[in-house]
Order: sequence, then structure tokens, then C-alpha cells
Amino acid sequence: MSLYILSKERLPQFVKALQGKFRVVGPVETETGYAFDDITDPAQLQMDYTTTILPPKKYFLPQREVLFSYHNEKENGGPQRLEMRPVYQDVQPTVIFGVHTCDMSGIMLYDKVFSEGFRDEHYMERREQIYIIGIECLHPCDEASFCKDMGTLTAPPIYDLHMTDAGDHYFVDTGTEKGERLLLDNAYVKMAEKEDIQRLGQVLSSKWPRFRMRLKMSRDQTPSLLTLGYQAKLWQQLGERCLACASCTNVCPTCFCFDVRDENDITMQGGERVRVWDSCQLYEFALVAGEHNFRESKASRVRHRLMRKGKYIKQVHGLSGCTGCGRCERACLVNITIPGTLNALHEEMQLEPGI
Ligand code: SF4
Ligand code: SF4
Repeated sequence: MSLYILSKERLPQFVKALQGKFRVVGPVETETGYAFDDITDPAQLQMDYTTTILPPKKYFLPQREVLFSYHNEKENGGPQRLEMRPVYQDVQPTVIFGVHTCDMSGIMLYDKVFSEGFRDEHYMERREQIYIIGIECLHPCDEASFCKDMGTLTAPPIYDLHMTDAGDHYFVDTGTEKGERLLLDNAYVKMAEKEDIQRLGQVLSSKWPRFRMRLKMSRDQTPSLLTLGYQAKLWQQLGERCLACASCTNVCPTCFCFDVRDENDITMQGGERVRVWDSCQLYEFALVAGEHNFRESKASRVRHRLMRKGKYIKQVHGLSGCTGCGRCERACLVNITIPGTLNALHEEMQLEPGI
């Protein structure tokens, strides 16, 4: 599509203009770090943030979401029947500013998961109203990042607009027609010229040496490594360390498992069916009828998470189950990390290849 120039001075005006038509959210500074939140004043928007505790997944898949309401109805003395009405919560035109390229990769995975096969209408209704404005990552967020290993250091093709910081202005790339309309409805940009395009190329190519690789194998090798290492001793060691707190899955931009519950009202005549985030790291996740638990040990649950991240999701959806964002590493109190685990597994397999 097209490339435009937006001067940094004009960004607040652009945000303000969007606020007239959309809910605008983006990274803001909080006492505990950066977080995606509503932007009420354009000065809150922090486009050069490092990382956020939670990814923007809460705008796509809320932590608690009512799917439908139900109640018993009885008309003119006839038989009772159950009335069900779909509920679409928080579905409104929303612009999300400042989405990093790794988080866009997470959203691209969600788009596949919730649209292919069984189409999730609640996700799709919300998704259609969301505009993504990405920001190119020119520096790693911190030591926990391994986006370069996971191939998420460039923007996947899901953004409506994508911005690159070039000092006193942003390059703004348009990814969709709706993104282009967003930009051109607000006359704050000018078309990029030939020398601007060359300058963008320089900015983009100069960022790569700043990012380090952390994995001892390529990301294409992780599925076979995890297959070979299924019975490795490592899982027992990690299981003994893991607290089963589920912090790693809660902060993850590619975790999408949920539970569905019926919450009856006090009259027992109606209620709501809600979906809430769940975690494979919790004991109850795999607890089924007859008190049987098919992933009872913490070792089996840690292994399952790694199998999802490095193998299963890729096999089913064709996209990596890990973006290399490093959030689970920052959140884990006992330092169980994706690169640390995969590298330790790689090492164990070199020592005991027959396992
Ligand atoms: S597994 Fe960890 S590093 Fe990978 S996407 Fe999830 S939170 Fe980020
Ligand atoms: S954050 Fe760490 S301790 Fe908590 S469940 Fe995940 S791996 Fe286990």
C-alpha cells in the first residue's frame, strides 16, 4: 500500500481526531510498568514503551466475557421454555495504538484460531471493529526478549497502519484500506518521497544487530527437539520447581484456552453463560469426571505448555505458538523460561540422544 510521513508534533492531533469516532487504547505508563489502557489524553500515549505486562489480547479475548443470557419463560399458562439471547460485550470501534510486531504475531495466530474450523462469532464481532496501529521495534524490550529467534521482529500482514520512529517524524505504512482511510480522513500526513523510502530502509536495516539470538537451535528445529525430548529428565526437574501459579499463561499473547461457566441468578430462573481465561498450568484444568486428572503432575503440565509453544500450535495452525515476547520469563518467580528450557532440552538430547 502507501507510505506516509507523520510529524511527531502532529501525533496528539491525530489521536484526538480519532477519539471523536473511536475508543482509542494504547500503551501508558503505570506504577508497575507499561500497560495497554484507554487513552483519554494523547499525552498518555507512550509509543516508545518497552513492553507491557499483559499483551493487547484483552481487547480481543476479554478475561471474562458473557456469551449469552438465558431465562425461563412461560407464556399464557403454556409450558416453560428456555429463552437464550447472545450478548456481545465491549464491541465498539476501537483503535489500538503501539502494537509491537511480536504482539501482532500473537493476534495473527488468534485470527486463525478463532476463524478457521469452528468460527467464534464473539471473537469475530469484536475483531472486525478493531484497528491495529503497529509500531516497529527498533530496540529489544529487555534481556528476556527473543523475538529474533522466533522470527517476529518484522510486522506480520495484519496491521491497518504501521509506524516507524525516524526521529522527528514517523513513517506510516498503510496495511489495509480501512487503515488508509483512518489516516487520510485526518489531514496530518504527507506522502513519502523517494529519499524517505531510502531512509526507512536504513532505519530498518540498522536495527537487526541490536537484537541477539538466545536459542541454541533454529525455531524450525523445536518441533523435532520436543518430540525427541518427550521423556527427558528435564521435565521432572522443572515440575519440582514450578509453582503452578499460571502467571506464564496469563501474560502470554498466544495462550487462548478458556473455561465456560453458567452463572445462575439468585431466582434460578435465568443467568449468563460466561467464558473466562483458563490455564493448562493449573491442576483443575485437566480434572475430569471421576476425579481423574490426565495431567496431574506439574512436570506433565510444564511439558505440555512447552509442547504447545514449540510444536502443537505450529502443527495445527501453521504459526509459531511463541512470539518470543519474554513476558512469561518476566512473570515467572522461579525463572522457568522458554529459551532456558529449550536450550537445556537441546543439551540433554546431545548427551542422551537415545531418549
Ligand atoms: S510463551 Fe512466553 S515468550 Fe512465548 S509468546 Fe508466550 S509469554 Fe511470550
Ligand atoms: S509462571 Fe513459572 S512457576 Fe508459574 S506456572 Fe508458569 S512456569 Fe510455573
